[in-house]
Amino acid sequence: MCNCINVKMGSYQNQITLKMPNGELMGIDKCIAEEIKKIWSYGIKTTGCCCGHNINEGYIGVIDKDIEFMKKSGYKVLINKQDLKDERNFIPKSHRDEKGELEYYDYEDKYKK
Ligand SMILES: [Zn+2]
Repeated sequence: MCNCINVKMGSYQNQITLKMPNGELMGIDKCIAEEIKKIWSYGIKTTGCCCGHNINEGYIGVIDKDIEFMKKSGYKVLINKQDLKDERNFIPKSHRDEKGELEYYDYEDKYKK
């Protein structure tokens, strides 16, 4: 799933600090940091994320307006068993990639406003 070894849930042990597009600093799990940077570069606003630390499935949360974009980019919704209509969290792509490279569809031109 990801590169974490012995990282507890809720721990900041494997995080790096990134500057968000709005200038604020945010601690992001190292395993998905490149992916998050890429998502930000498309203008997507994230609400939170976690790589899952090899214990749980990771997630990338986005604001309602950006859900459509994530789906069109091939992201799979992380099912919220408490609320099936909640589609705000997506499974990070970096988890499913064995070569260490992220696969993205060529949606940049199509969907970027
Ligand atoms: Zn991890």
